[in-house]
Amino acid sequence: MQYSKSLVWFRRDLRDYDHAALYYALKTSQQVYCVFVFDTAILNNLSVKADRRVEFIWESVNELKASLQQHGGDLIVVHGHAQQEIPKLARTLAVQAVLANHDYEPSAIKRDSEVALQLKSQNIDFHHYKDQVIFEKDEVLTMANKPYSVFTPYKNMWLKKVNDFYLQPYPVDLYLNNLAKTQPQAMPSLESLGFQRTNLSSMRLPTGMSGGATLFNDFIERIQHYKEARDFPAVKGVSYLSVHLRFGTISIRQLARTAMQIGGFGAETWLSELIWRDFYFQILHHNQQLEAGKAFKPEFEAIPFPNSTTLFSAWCEGRTGYPIVDAAMRQLNTTGFMHNRLRMVAASFLVKDLLVDWRWGERYFAEKLIDFDFSANNGGWQWAASTGCDAQPWFRIFNPVTQSERFDANGKFIRKYVTELANCNDKEIHAPWLMPAQRQLSINTIIGQHYPAPIVDHATQRELALALYKNSTT
Ligand code: FAD
Repeated sequence: MQYSKSLVWFRRDLRDYDHAALYYALKTSQQVYCVFVFDTAILNNLSVKADRRVEFIWESVNELKASLQQHGGDLIVVHGHAQQEIPKLARTLAVQAVLANHDYEPSAIKRDSEVALQLKSQNIDFHHYKDQVIFEKDEVLTMANKPYSVFTPYKNMWLKKVNDFYLQPYPVDLYLNNLAKTQPQAMPSLESLGFQRTNLSSMRLPTGMSGGATLFNDFIERIQHYKEARDFPAVKGVSYLSVHLRFGTISIRQLARTAMQIGGFGAETWLSELIWRDFYFQILHHNQQLEAGKAFKPEFEAIPFPNSTTLFSAWCEGRTGYPIVDAAMRQLNTTGFMHNRLRMVAASFLVKDLLVDWRWGERYFAEKLIDFDFSANNGGWQWAASTGCDAQPWFRIFNPVTQSERFDANGKFIRKYVTELANCNDKEIHAPWLMPAQRQLSINTIIGQHYPAPIVDHATQRELALALYKNSTT
């Protein structure tokens, strides 16, 4: 198909290199317009108007716009309801096609089919492409042509199938001449969208394509140590690229290709994490009921969690009395990020120590995480709650103290976020309530006064959790 004019609709793919929809538009059209919609259907649901994600997107859209302008084009930035704005803009520009990349979340699929219907009624084509994963939908199936629900065989098949074809970049730059030459349009301010600045600029989290590239270059220098370093939150062992993958300011093909080229234990382990990401996207594709809050394993659909709102609030606010959990939650609240090991510990603690429904925690993470992605977040929560595909067995329960001793042995991470415990020594800091009263006095760290006493007893709660799960399976 050849078009004289087409429109590329950017969503979670905020870059102008190695971009499937942009490539196909430029290759098939004489003039390509680009648009990003700050969608009121999403933004109006955000109750807190200082949101790091909106600011991250705003900064990244701003950079994308400047980059497209440098190439002779522009990014039209609209604030409104995507279902109305895209067909309206397509009509105004008189394009013959709109091109976008796949989004796998059920609500986004519904939005896209509504847009497609309206475009069709205007005789405008709507094309969409795989872009944010290496393999999607039914591309990796079992020998019996069924979707995988266990990770390791999925990963093995993924590795068997992957080749240069799936990893090669889309050579967008060869066709940038076909960007429509327009009068540059103004970028709406963050404030005009109804949002305020957050502490994003003070964090070490560079935004946009340039930020993604900076973080990736930094990580490549450390990738060979990833396997040993990735579990320790006080160590710079992981890539911190999740938010860039979430908003497409970096290309998944570039990351997977580089990891495969580098090879070795570190890069292979990291590639596995990228494969987990693909895995959860395909789980969501085949299990759209997950978006409605269903447990992946139906037998765990209705565990009668006691759901104490008091315990839940203490967890959210990082005052459970378990230092590693509190440090993790405070990291989330103050930065929007939480290290993977801590996501597992904090999630397990909420469900199996505080006996609160995993869906409550999932929702809280969804509000706070800068890298929030439904498929990975749901996958992570259902893993920790033992309700998911390939999940932690229900009888396996993290001990928050031993996790702390193992993964933050000298308490460096805890000290950063739970400053009340700064005077504890490396041993005491993991379970400060065990310090004798005299010691608490001498270091001016009174448990129950300067820092909370544990809100539950792990050993007792463990037994209760086991009984709760056992009764649900029988
Ligand atoms: P790295 O260790 O450098 O990994 C590289 C990339 O691989 C990540 O950026 C991410 O895209 C992907 N990845 C890594 N681990 C996983 C995983 N377990 N599942 C899927 N993809 C993975 N990740 C999100 O991107 N968004 C979420 O909303 C999210 N919620 C989570 C909730 C819980 C309860 C748990 C246990 C995990 C969750 N994760 C989520 C997965 C993981 O914690 C983060 O991807 C990771 O901590 C991000 O840091 P990084 O970019 O430095 O990761």
